[in-house]
Amino acid sequence: LSPAFQNAALAHEGYSLRYEPLDVEPVALGATLDALAVQGAAGNITIPFKQAVVERAHCTSLAARVGAVNTFWHERGALYGDNTDVAGVVASIVSLCPEGIADTRCVVIGAGGAAAAVLVALEQLGCRDIVMAVRRAEQAQELSERVRVAVEIVALDPNRLSDARLLINATSIGMRENAMPMSPAALGKDAAVLDLVYGPNETAWVRACRAAGHRAEDGLRMLVEQGAGAFERWFAVTAPRDVMWRALSEATGRRA
Ligand code: NAP
Repeated sequence: LSPAFQNAALAHEGYSLRYEPLDVEPVALGATLDALAVQGAAGNITIPFKQAVVERAHCTSLAARVGAVNTFWHERGALYGDNTDVAGVVASIVSLCPEGIADTRCVVIGAGGAAAAVLVALEQLGCRDIVMAVRRAEQAQELSERVRVAVEIVALDPNRLSDARLLINATSIGMRENAMPMSPAALGKDAAVLDLVYGPNETAWVRACRAAGHRAEDGLRMLVEQGAGAFERWFAVTAPRDVMWRALSEATGRRA
């Protein structure tokens, strides 16, 4: 979906540039980055290369802390990297929980690259009661130490999570099937749900949680906001978010 809304934004701002997807084999990452350096290209990095590019780029302190580059550009032939996923998560949480989450127990499900951005976003929003619900405790422990955000680590056991006010799915559960990270029946009464996974028809978890009376959003806002943050990095202008959302609506059939 990124080409759809980035190309709409580029055209709207009058740039004669194209945002194009590159399918890169892992063995070809270095050669691809070298070729992009010759072009002075800018763009985004996605799964599974976000971590590998940290080793190759001059990183912002945020990208270094999260351990993932999702946005790159070149200056005098050198590769630079930033992370706008954190801002994407912040914007999604602010939209979902405008009352703030400072005194809120938040649960992060999963401990991969996206969970790193979520932990830093929760810290930026002042949340100090963070639980990671994972299937591999050592992975969560490692992540928490790496990004320097204190967390409680529990198994992905619905009985342990009913006191959470915000639950964030940072796993790939629900990406290709209608599976859910946990049943809406296990949520506390006022719990809100943010699913980082997104799809044309939202996700099964978002639909089920909303049907059960909970506030719920999927990862489309995060996608737009990380893209808008990248656009602002590349061009130092405010990204035309309304144009981006319109392009996404056309591409997905979803309303902004
Ligand atoms: P990742 O690095 O592969 O991490 C996925 C995490 O989920 C790992 O901790 C993994 O545990 C866990 N997991 C996967 N399946 C599970 C299951 N069935 N039960 C319990 N835990 C499970 O992936 P990522 O980069 O963090 O991305 C995660 C998801 O976030 C993606 O699917 C993507 O849809 C979404 N995302 C959205 C945006 C956006 O803009 N909206 C941006 C980035 C990512 P193991 O290591 O044990 O497998």
